Amino acid sequence: MRDWLRHHPSVRTIRVAASDLNGQARGKRVPVRFADKVLKEGTRFPYSVMNLDIWGEDIEDSPLVFASGDADGVLKPTDRGFLPMPWLDAPTALLPLWMFHEDGTPFEGDPRHALANVVKRFHDRGLYPVCATELEFYLIDDSGRELRVPPSPRSGKRRPGADTLALRALDAFDNFFTDLYDACEAMDIEVETAISEAGIGQFEINLLHSDDVLKIADDTWLFKLLVRGIARRHGFAASFMAKPYDDWPGSGMHMHFSMNDKDGNNVFDDGTAKGSEVFLNAVGGCLRAMPGSMLLLAPHANSYQRFVPGNHAPSGIAWAYENRTAALRIPSGSHKARRIEHRVAGGDINPYLMIAGVLGSALLGIEDALTPPPAVKGNAYAMDLPQLPTTWPDAVAAFENCPDMARIFSKELIENLLRTKRQEIRYMAELSTEEAIELYLDTV
Ligand code: GLU
Ligand code: MG
Ligand code: MG
Repeated sequence: MRDWLRHHPSVRTIRVAASDLNGQARGKRVPVRFADKVLKEGTRFPYSVMNLDIWGEDIEDSPLVFASGDADGVLKPTDRGFLPMPWLDAPTALLPLWMFHEDGTPFEGDPRHALANVVKRFHDRGLYPVCATELEFYLIDDSGRELRVPPSPRSGKRRPGADTLALRALDAFDNFFTDLYDACEAMDIEVETAISEAGIGQFEINLLHSDDVLKIADDTWLFKLLVRGIARRHGFAASFMAKPYDDWPGSGMHMHFSMNDKDGNNVFDDGTAKGSEVFLNAVGGCLRAMPGSMLLLAPHANSYQRFVPGNHAPSGIAWAYENRTAALRIPSGSHKARRIEHRVAGGDINPYLMIAGVLGSALLGIEDALTPPPAVKGNAYAMDLPQLPTTWPDAVAAFENCPDMARIFSKELIENLLRTKRQEIRYMAELSTEEAIELYLDTV
């Protein structure tokens, strides 16, 4: 890690940061001459910082946090090492961290540890999940009272949907995308395609799949910081809010995943069009845990406005082959690439918790050898299906009472997330829609 700094002599300042429960980066600015000290000793934050909500109120009397007198936890660098932060003016390096106790054991309330635990359980079974994320976001001019599409040479009056896959819309923001792709390369984030999405000023970028699930989650987390930062350099905001505009489609974060054995063979494929037993078990697990994991897929007040029929965001609990109206879509194509596209999450998720929730659900399906109900065919919006929780408090209750979540996450994480979310619910209830949008726009 020191080598990286030697090769980047212009870097004068470092940010050391970890993800809190909402996926917010919490950290410090450190002059580069203290880099060795951070690498050797890490740094310290109070435990409560990992559980703060996005407006910075303290988490009230959590026995798990305050039993310690809200002592410091120790934050150590992840194996990612230093990364450039191309969205800042001064040459700056970011050192991602995660939290441990003083005795060196992981702090189980840290979302990255939650994901590492799930990944380890797969590896212990000889299974190696392969994941990719697809991030949708809006570019927004938020300088006036109303949110608008940033001025571009071709921003005429257009109907949502008319811009899906339109090169014209992509090209209008080509300078932004060029900077974004360059920055991803510098940060070792493998980005594949970018497209114009159905909303006006809405885009989707797909990160390349990998069997290094922690890296995919890190990349997704870093990518959200990066997109927001690069957009600000271009004079507009980038928002991963699930539903910034009432009349236009929301932004999702789809996750594709399959599973390899130790020799790199996809165990979801058994040569049949249907898919293997393990694949069906994983589908069954994702469906069973879907209501309980909703809080991880739709973590904020605004998330629940995205689930309107006909916008390609699911509302019923179902799976289907090549069908964008279902919560789980099984893409067509080569059987060897058999995978599940989980379509419920909004762009506003914490990627560590979301990926841990989805993979953990699939793992329980495999452990319990679950058989899913039959795949649906046709328009899932028009079917009489079991429904996902439709409100935030319902999702909190479903998470709290879900036996699957208790098998995936530690007591600390569940307890702290419930407290954080309950506090956020109380806070948001006092805000107007405009105030909520202002709060969430480029923080979630
Ligand atoms: N924007 C849709 C959503 O909110 C997804 C569109 C798509 O299928 O890519 O989930
Ligand atoms: Mg899309
Ligand atoms: Mg997709």
